[in-house]
Amino acid sequence: MTESTGSTGSWRVATAPAAQAPVAVIGAGVMGAGIAQVAAQAGHPVRLMDLREGAAAAAIAQIGKALDGLVTKGRMEAAEREAVMSRLSPAGATADLKDSALVIEVIVEKLEPKQALLRELDALLPPDALIASNTSSISITALANGMATPRRLVGMHFFNPVPLMKLVEVVWGAETDPSAAEAIEQLSRRWGKTPVHARSTPGFIVNRIARPYYAETLALLQEQAGSPAQLDRALRGAGFRMGPCELMDLIGHDTNYLVTQSVFEANFGDKRYQPSLVQKALVDGGRLGRKSGKGFYEGVPASTSTSPAESITASAADADVGAVTLAGQGALVERLGAWMTTRGVAFERDATTDWNGVALDGLQLHFTRGRCASQLAHERGQPGLAVIDWPLAPDRVEGLAIAFASRVDAASREHAEVLLRRLGWEPLVLRDVPGLAVARTIAMLVNEGADAVWQGVCDEAGADTAMKLGVNYPAGPFEWLALLGAPAVVDALDGLFDAYRSERYRVSPLLRQRLWG
Ligand code: NAD
Repeated sequence: MTESTGSTGSWRVATAPAAQAPVAVIGAGVMGAGIAQVAAQAGHPVRLMDLREGAAAAAIAQIGKALDGLVTKGRMEAAEREAVMSRLSPAGATADLKDSALVIEVIVEKLEPKQALLRELDALLPPDALIASNTSSISITALANGMATPRRLVGMHFFNPVPLMKLVEVVWGAETDPSAAEAIEQLSRRWGKTPVHARSTPGFIVNRIARPYYAETLALLQEQAGSPAQLDRALRGAGFRMGPCELMDLIGHDTNYLVTQSVFEANFGDKRYQPSLVQKALVDGGRLGRKSGKGFYEGVPASTSTSPAESITASAADADVGAVTLAGQGALVERLGAWMTTRGVAFERDATTDWNGVALDGLQLHFTRGRCASQLAHERGQPGLAVIDWPLAPDRVEGLAIAFASRVDAASREHAEVLLRRLGWEPLVLRDVPGLAVARTIAMLVNEGADAVWQGVCDEAGADTAMKLGVNYPAGPFEWLALLGAPAVVDALDGLFDAYRSERYRVSPLLRQRLWG
């Protein structure tokens, strides 16, 4: 036991509820049922309660079916299933939960009913019981307001589907006691989860850092830069399991739009989180995604997960690309060089250029630096210029975004496309927008992660873990930063900032400091 004192007097809290300690879950919806299942599987007797008559019993029956599936697949013994089910029971009233060591609130995402319930629990439970909330967007500080013992309230943010998703954001409100947060951390680990600490700020970690994944693609669509299929292909090529458009179709545009609006409003209208007219139009028109049968795509988009090797034709595989020079330095140049070797493309090396990319006869392909091809062509007096996206995972790239300066002729365009196909990459010709698709998205994800750390929301390892486990990103923001280097990321962001003159692309002070060593 540890003792802590504070504004509300003396209060004791156990490190973490013991394995057989009773746990209660209030709210037997999608998330509550999943949390109850995980707690019961970890050995706790679990009381499940819901306002709706019969909802808790129905959820327990649903859990039974889920466990049947595990037994059928040989992932759980029948006896274990029975033991888990015997630990689950419905509760009729909050008063029935008074002996719980931990109560997790998983009700409707609205401040007032949550606050009322938490105050009631606070008055009911013994002083060393913990209270957690699974809210995905409401401030833990605001939820604790009115509780006599706000220090025992911790955000315990699970991800859907709870039994499968490993991440738990352990969210600290302004009053949360460190021992309470640590107890929830330990408990999450015992439940087979990976906890990451977050300070209660809008979107916590995952829903905050993920915003640019949607926002940059929506901005590109608004600018008519390319089609949803092209942009999805580009981002899948950076290692994401789903492109932003197909993912938004899956999540539902109504849900995604609401989260964006809530983060935007909670940040007092910071342009960085501004919702998109493109998404609003989808919501207004009832194109909510898969749930309504159509969104960006009609129904489920045909899987485009062809491997690069499959996607190139035989003629592209031995097309003559002429003389190729690998220009400049850095991680992307090295990766491209290694990939050209793998693909049997012969090239010269010139590390002395003041730009990075590939030179073909009369045409330079620059890795995008957040500037348009036409701008670079104009500034450098080099009309034969295109910008290409960042091939972060060359062997996975299905298509690489490319944009040509306005004066590039048809033969040079064709030449560049032949090279990309020769490398196994479908050329995704976009309008000449700054930052293309992958570069602007990754730079903004890194920037958001950097600001989250700069503002003390989480640490670097926490940001990486949260994004990989909470939304299955192929890498975390700080892993991308280590790969690309701060100069490349800051350069791309500064390019975007100049292009749009928008605070949206302002560089995080953390990244700027990395430039100075
Ligand atoms: P849901 O609508 O499926 O379930 C909510 C349940 O709470 C309903 O069964 C409802 O009857 C019950 N309820 C409402 N008010 C109640 C009250 N005062 N007392 C007892 N029961 C009450 O919702 P959900 O998707 O399970 O979400 C629940 C919470 O989890 C929300 O805070 C949500 O933001 C959060 N969350 C959801 C997800 C997700 O992907 N769905 C992910 C993470 C967190």
